[in-house]
Amino acid sequence: MKLPDSLKKLVDFFESFPEIGPRQALRLAFFVARNEKFKSIFKNISEEIQKIKLCKDCYFPFENEGDLCFFCSNPQRDKRKLCIVLSETTVLSLEKAQFYDGVYFILGERELEKNIEKLRELIKQRNVQKIIFSLPLTSEGRAIVEDIKSGLSDFKVEFIEPKMGLPKGGEVEFADPETLKEAFKF
Ligand SMILES: [Zn+2]
Repeated sequence: MKLPDSLKKLVDFFESFPEIGPRQALRLAFFVARNEKFKSIFKNISEEIQKIKLCKDCYFPFENEGDLCFFCSNPQRDKRKLCIVLSETTVLSLEKAQFYDGVYFILGERELEKNIEKLRELIKQRNVQKIIFSLPLTSEGRAIVEDIKSGLSDFKVEFIEPKMGLPKGGEVEFADPETLKEAFKF
């Protein structure tokens, strides 16, 4: 038996997501296939995602005019404080805790050299004074911190690593607002 091409395309689509395996992709594809409402939902989404842009400085998504996101275009945010995070969801957790007034930099899946190059550009351009690492306190997270530090070692910036009382594994994203506030006291 062979799956219809349309369904196969859906399976491929779901399989392209991180952490979605072939079985899950199949299950999701069948779920979409048996629910008529997805025809209009997907049509809408395909139009909506065209509006999404990535900030030229920090890579956070936005959809307004210009090339800067909500944070980077906001005069109230302190551009001399730069918080480095792995993903956008960490930004949301920090914003929810409502204490951080600087801006962010999202590492994403880019090569480290590319990120360091961009960071060097931002430090010069914005006169960045403080770099706050908000990465998981895992060995992988530690390695990234060290690599970035050495890539920026010729700059006069203060490196800050919040580590107090974060949950096991140091996932900033899953810490409650009070813990985050405490961990970010600097
Ligand atoms: Zn930005």
